[in-house]
Amino acid sequence: MLTGEIDLHLHSTASDGTETPRSLVRMAKQMGLAAISITDHDTTEAVSEAQREGRRSSVEVIPGIEIGSHFEGNSVHILGYFVDVESPVLREFVQQKREARKRRAIEIVRRLRSAGLPIDEEAVFEAAGSGVVGRVQIARVLVANGVVGSVSEAFASLLRRGSPYYVALTKPSPQEAVSLVKRAGGIASLAHPVFLEERIVERLVPMLSKAGLAGIEVLCGFDPAAGLTAEDHLRRCAEMMGFATDYGLVPTGGSDYHGLSVKATGMGSAHVPVQFLEDLKAAYRNRDPAQSPSGGAPRS
Ligand code: AMP
Ligand code: FE
Ligand code: FE
Ligand code: ZN
Repeated sequence: MLTGEIDLHLHSTASDGTETPRSLVRMAKQMGLAAISITDHDTTEAVSEAQREGRRSSVEVIPGIEIGSHFEGNSVHILGYFVDVESPVLREFVQQKREARKRRAIEIVRRLRSAGLPIDEEAVFEAAGSGVVGRVQIARVLVANGVVGSVSEAFASLLRRGSPYYVALTKPSPQEAVSLVKRAGGIASLAHPVFLEERIVERLVPMLSKAGLAGIEVLCGFDPAAGLTAEDHLRRCAEMMGFATDYGLVPTGGSDYHGLSVKATGMGSAHVPVQFLEDLKAAYRNRDPAQSPSGGAPRS
């Protein structure tokens, strides 16, 4: 049996994480993690830098993405692993999302300003740097300007869905997100289902399995702010393992580390065994070739 731990769900400065891709790989090395995947929201822009550093540091870096989707008013995240970051379909998606997120940030800032709150676009784009922009960067500027005390306070008050300052992003359906991952040559896993309502997971899993879902994230970092007790969190993880078994899905796992100033889940905190990655690789090798860009040719 293989030993060691991995973390297949991390965010970098390419989306709303606080660490650069390079720094994430170095941290993983220091923590003794065998492999990681940077799964930024709607972008793969961290992947090449992370892989370069991975080769230097002997940490395996799996290409990844986390695609936001909507299902009946629920925000459902789909993780894509082993995606081809150069595939035209993925490049076009990433570019479109980057622009849409920018327009949305401008609108949120406009609404905050018209309510007299001190914030401007430039500061938000500066906080995002070269990464895609989201509510986390807006929250950081609100913290810096003394409007709220923390990023999570900004989410709880001004930036939550339902607030007058909230602007929704146009998102694909979860089936479309799975299909996109497949067309980009990768395999898809349902992200952090423990944070979805049970009745939603019960409907999503069969539906997405039919659409070609390969995995389910059974292990994820415990976040006390997410509304579950530590005990309930563990119980939900075990239930998700049940879905994996029942539907023949590979269990995946990761912390969803964004930097501790964003949320309280540290890198490695999901304690994911390296065996999960071996099983994920086997699923990748055996994936349905019909939708991959190479038309089913074996990949090295
Ligand atoms: P967006 O993609 O711009 O809609 O922002 C959603 C992201 O904000 C999520 O992926 C989380 O990383 C982060 N987020 C959501 N809720 C909170 C919260 N309560 N505290 C801190 N970060 C949050
Ligand atoms: Fe995030
Ligand atoms: Fe997520
Ligand atoms: Zn995430």
